[in-house]
Amino acid sequence: MNQYDLVVIGAGPGGYVAAIRGAQLGYKTALIEKRGTLGGTCLNVGCIPSKALLDSSEHYLKASKEFEVHGIKTGGLEIDFPRMIARKQEVVDQTVAGVDFLMEKNGITVLNGFGSFVDAHTLEVKKDGGETEQIKADRILIATGSEPASLPFIQLDGDRVITSTEALELPALPERMVIIGGGVIGLELGSVYARLGTEVHVVEYQNAIIPTMDRTMGKELQRAMKKIGVKFHLSHGVKEVVNAGDKAIVKADNKKGEEVTWEADYCLVAVGRKPYTEGLGLDKVGIALDDRGRVEVDGHLRTAHPHIYAIGDVVKGAMLAHKAEEEGIYAVEHMAGQKPHLDHNLIPGVVYTWPEVAAVGQTEEQLKADGIAYKTGSFPFKASGRARASMDTDGVVKVLAHQETDEILGVHICGPRAADMIAEAVVAMEYRASAEDIARMSHAHPTFTEAVKEAALAATGDRALHI
Ligand code: FAD
Ligand code: NAD
Repeated sequence: MNQYDLVVIGAGPGGYVAAIRGAQLGYKTALIEKRGTLGGTCLNVGCIPSKALLDSSEHYLKASKEFEVHGIKTGGLEIDFPRMIARKQEVVDQTVAGVDFLMEKNGITVLNGFGSFVDAHTLEVKKDGGETEQIKADRILIATGSEPASLPFIQLDGDRVITSTEALELPALPERMVIIGGGVIGLELGSVYARLGTEVHVVEYQNAIIPTMDRTMGKELQRAMKKIGVKFHLSHGVKEVVNAGDKAIVKADNKKGEEVTWEADYCLVAVGRKPYTEGLGLDKVGIALDDRGRVEVDGHLRTAHPHIYAIGDVVKGAMLAHKAEEEGIYAVEHMAGQKPHLDHNLIPGVVYTWPEVAAVGQTEEQLKADGIAYKTGSFPFKASGRARASMDTDGVVKVLAHQETDEILGVHICGPRAADMIAEAVVAMEYRASAEDIARMSHAHPTFTEAVKEAALAATGDRALHI
């Protein structure tokens, strides 16, 4: 029986990165993956393909709505949707091939098959053909990720009632799409299709979109997305979804209790994801799940067994690729006796719409609920010269700082390139910077980041300069 220092189950961004770190630390490492390709949800059916389609659709939108204003005449524009989907797949294929290369380079043994526990140090790998192999491991990392969640009365059939996985490879551009859930997936994939001309309806249970983010962000984004034609139905409780053959029928009650019905080519169900532990055999080793099906871990990501850790979407916390990565590195370094650092409060969250939304730290609602005295400063992109030059004037930067100490407690950006800009706030907050620190640092002109400086100036005594 092959014996390894470290075996990782699941080759998503959490698992494969952890395997690399294990190999770097000198562990003889194996990585078990049931999918035909490495990279997990993120690279195959998540982050990468969605961003590829977001970019393609954004090009189309700009060409159809903005080029003329810039003085560029394109003649007739046409969408070749199958080509767009094929390009997305090329991006995915190149990216997953990159992970194969990384495994080879780091001397990691990749075991293709379904991994499960035999006992606390033995794993079985069941290959596609049915044959099995048992391996021994000194240390084990569970990184089995998540799968789409649904509602009890909805039958996800992959035909008319679909998840993000099918929405990333539709055979043709739909005329109408109803999306249940105004969260990250609903808004990103809703943007893709609305930009390409699909009539998109977002049905959200709460009274705001992206309801877990700072409420200012949802308001700004909703205003901007209405401009590309997305129709929002907030405070609507979906009660029935039917596949009627050539269409999906969705019924909901609005806040007055009246029934509303939509018919569409597809109903995309985007109400969250759930941890994936099916068939893993956790019961055989006495590893418990919490009330939401997540593997229970302590503050060091250890399960009930000191040599078995779990990370990423399968444990508590935000379901984000970079969170899974950081946890993977943390877990392996901790196994090796190091003292790694990871502050979950400083993991940024991004929504890749346009404008993008990016945030780190506490929301204003959280600070209020916790009774923390704070001050706030905002700066709208319509007052930014850089944003005017690129016609990206929607959105705002909001800086939240402690009322007395001025320490930055949260930064929330809805605006152009927010996803990239949030890194400045993460660095500042890791070093416990004050709003004054950012306000005094030179930000190149003209850049979108000047809006962050201006918001910091606004938070420190109403000193914004360009508004
Ligand atoms: P996963 O990526 O889910 O990987 C787990 C792997 O384990 C899978 O490959 C699975 O096949 C394998 N596995 C499971 N059980 C077994 C077993 N028993 N044996 C062998 N293999 C097994 N996050 C971001 O940060 N940014 C984004 O832009 C973003 N966009 C997204 C867009 C979409 C449409 C979706 C669906 C998700 C997106 N996410 C994004 C979330 C991100 O994909 C996840 O947070 C991330 O993939 C979690 O990583 P993970 O390693 O924990 O699990
Ligand atoms: P989500 O939690 O972001 O959003 C789900 C939305 O559905 C919420 O707004 C919620 O209020 C709503 N909802 C729940 N039940 C409902 C009901 N019965 N009727 C109507 N609305 C309902 O989940 P998601 O968008 O499905 O994404 C899943 C996960 O994938 C998220 O945790 C996210 O972190 C991750 N993801 C991240 C990115 C990114 O980082 N850019 C992109 C896509 C997905």
